[in-house]
Amino acid sequence: MAITYEFIKTCKQTGARLGKVHTPHGSFDTPAFMPVGTLATVKTMSPEELQEMNANIILSNTYHLWLRPGEDIIEEAGGLHKFMNWDGAILTDSGGFQVFSLSDLRQIEEEGVHFRNHISGEKLFLSPEKAMHIQNALGSDIMMAFDECPPYPAEYDYMKKSVERTSRWAERCLTAHKKPDKQGLFGIVQGGEYEELRRQSAEDLTSLDFPGYAIGGLSVGEPKDVMNRVLEFTTPMLPENKPRYLMGVGSPDSLIDGSIRGVDMFDCVLPTRIARNGTCMTSNGRLVVRNAKFARDFRPIDEKCDCYTCRNYSSAYIRHLVKNNETFGFRLTTYHNLYFLLKLMEHVRQAIREDRLGDFREEFFEQYGFNKPNAKNF
Ligand SMILES: [Zn+2]
Repeated sequence: MAITYEFIKTCKQTGARLGKVHTPHGSFDTPAFMPVGTLATVKTMSPEELQEMNANIILSNTYHLWLRPGEDIIEEAGGLHKFMNWDGAILTDSGGFQVFSLSDLRQIEEEGVHFRNHISGEKLFLSPEKAMHIQNALGSDIMMAFDECPPYPAEYDYMKKSVERTSRWAERCLTAHKKPDKQGLFGIVQGGEYEELRRQSAEDLTSLDFPGYAIGGLSVGEPKDVMNRVLEFTTPMLPENKPRYLMGVGSPDSLIDGSIRGVDMFDCVLPTRIARNGTCMTSNGRLVVRNAKFARDFRPIDEKCDCYTCRNYSSAYIRHLVKNNETFGFRLTTYHNLYFLLKLMEHVRQAIREDRLGDFREEFFEQYGFNKPNAKNF
């Protein structure tokens, strides 16, 4: 099997899991955060820099690569790893989420989804078979099943129909997947905030025996307590010997709270996207380096951080670059934010090892400012 999960231990204080996922392109420790490289690049970072900060797996987007440059070109280049010169593991999504979030002209049928290209307006069609064909051509280590991701909130009846269709699509994905020995295909549990539907979805998918399972349909606008509640009842429905991936979640508080609820893998554009606005995650909370108060601040953006950015550059310098749209400024903030989250996950794993993730959460939330009233999300 292409993907296997090695369970190491559970944190006695919280129930979080420590483990390892083995892929054809190396292993990574879990719980893990995966940086997002939408168009076969984690924006502004080189693969060497990602390796340096211990990112062992990154995510790339099927929908975007299908449109540009096209999966045939990537296949001709020898696959996505070779095309982008990345030796580590790669996870690709199915394209479903982008079809549902980027395109407003779409029509969902049993066969698949008709929609318009968000760039050119051209008519396109994506189905379980097509999503498998593209991901097989890309050659990612972990592929995702094509699912429907309904918006939040969605009516129970709609969600039930959607969950049933997603299960039928998952079965078609398994049949269409041509390289199960080289690429692992994960199923995606949907069902919104409804426990009964999450159970139905989890039972349908686990009966198909995927090498891993994702929890989809969260972080789509619901309050954090809803997300935590859904995770609490959903993760126990999933097999213990397979990795669990919470899609689209990457704020520091949610990474910790998701780990506590038994999640092993996360991804999010948040750290890289906010970096390009000059916003940084630091051990003292969110920092907007553009602010005038940093004009003469010659300290690093995070004095507790030992990343390349913080070891070498001051807030004042980074502010100057970012305010003038200098590419190097965005490289520095991106490097720091990714390093910060990857380091956070190292701390989370260490805390699980020592059975003190609950204490770590308290300390981190206090220091970061999540315990303050009206605390920002990140
Ligand atoms: Zn730093």
